[in-house]
Amino acid sequence: MVAEKPADSQNEQSNDILASTQSVVKDALDRLGYANEAYELMKEPVRMMTVRIPVRMDDGNIKVFTGYRAQHNDAVGPTKGGVRFHPDVTEKEVRALSIWMTLKSGIVDLPYGGGKGGIICDPREMSFRELEAVSRGYVRALSQVVGPTKDIPAPDVFTNSQIMAWMMDEYSRIDEFNSPGFITGKPIVLGGSHGRESATAKGVTICIEEACKKRGIDIEDARVIVQGFGNAGSFLAKFMHDMGAKVIAISDAEGALHDPEGLDIDYLLDRRDSFGTVTNLFDDTISNDEMLELETDILVPAAVQNQITKDNAHNIKAEIVVEAANGPTTLEATQILTERDILIVPDVLASSGGVTVSYFEWVQNNQGFYWKEDEVQEKLREVLVKAFNNVYTTSQNRQIDMRLAAYMVGVRKMTEAARFRGWI
Ligand code: GLU
Repeated sequence: MVAEKPADSQNEQSNDILASTQSVVKDALDRLGYANEAYELMKEPVRMMTVRIPVRMDDGNIKVFTGYRAQHNDAVGPTKGGVRFHPDVTEKEVRALSIWMTLKSGIVDLPYGGGKGGIICDPREMSFRELEAVSRGYVRALSQVVGPTKDIPAPDVFTNSQIMAWMMDEYSRIDEFNSPGFITGKPIVLGGSHGRESATAKGVTICIEEACKKRGIDIEDARVIVQGFGNAGSFLAKFMHDMGAKVIAISDAEGALHDPEGLDIDYLLDRRDSFGTVTNLFDDTISNDEMLELETDILVPAAVQNQITKDNAHNIKAEIVVEAANGPTTLEATQILTERDILIVPDVLASSGGVTVSYFEWVQNNQGFYWKEDEVQEKLREVLVKAFNNVYTTSQNRQIDMRLAAYMVGVRKMTEAARFRGWI
């Protein structure tokens, strides 16, 4: 059971995320030379839905859950993005995250706008049956505004392929057609794609490889710290370990493990529970805050937002920071790290591997023709290498940090599409 933060502090955090996202979007649009109308359109989702989902719980009582879905902008194509199940979900956060999905799709050049959903609930305290009911209820509440050509959900924090399968089944029943393209991140037997589960971590790995080339770091000799041992963090630690890097520390919500000689990642993966907790099995732990300040070559925040702030940015001892989580570094901290010549690979670029393979999944569903794992990996690499270098070159040419460069690359396509449609 995680300690619940007071509602005020959650709201404050989501305010920060929305406000900081909007400020970088504004800066990016200004630098691209767009008039203020472009920002007026981009600063909020075009459609924001709140739904109430009644569920009969195992104890016989009805509990009514609140869910959200934000559709940021559909100028480029249907909106796309995950649904998170978390007690801290707020409407503002979902709005901000839908803008991020627009940026991610723009950076990797997919024919989508951004979308995002969330349900305020704690899956760690719910039974399978309750989770199924809340998942199906969410789809019923939104069925008219989502769909393979409108808005395509996917996994996010604490949602997985099983939840995608229930949602797809519910949508297919309402739609009266088998509709695998309604949602991505499905189990392979239901039209999921090879490589989707590990796609976010694969994308992060490709960004690390490219960043290491720029900084002359040999991955085989590199020390890596991974904060968070969920879907992205655990796969990433494994990929790094398999590439010969030394993963000297990992953490989860309970604490961190540190071994300067490198941790036994296979053992830790074997012992982690389905929510990514493993450090509770060890006595000799350090805190997450201590771990972030250890000396390393590569630091990967793959957990939650606001981890590197103005308070600890001066103490980060990494050459490269690659954001696998959404929003782990504040804008002030981004500036401090950039001034200290630490290369920061922003979330909207580093974590775009997930939505890229989701796109591949949707394409395969639409074609009814399925690709081999190698084909998926090859296409993912091609997309991510191009995206990384596009953002890196923009940041070098314009002498700006990688975050602002990524936002510039990310908003451009959407804004152009909106202009051609005559919206701005
Ligand atoms: N939730 C993931 C993200 O934030 C994946 C979204 C998707 O696959 O559509 O990027």
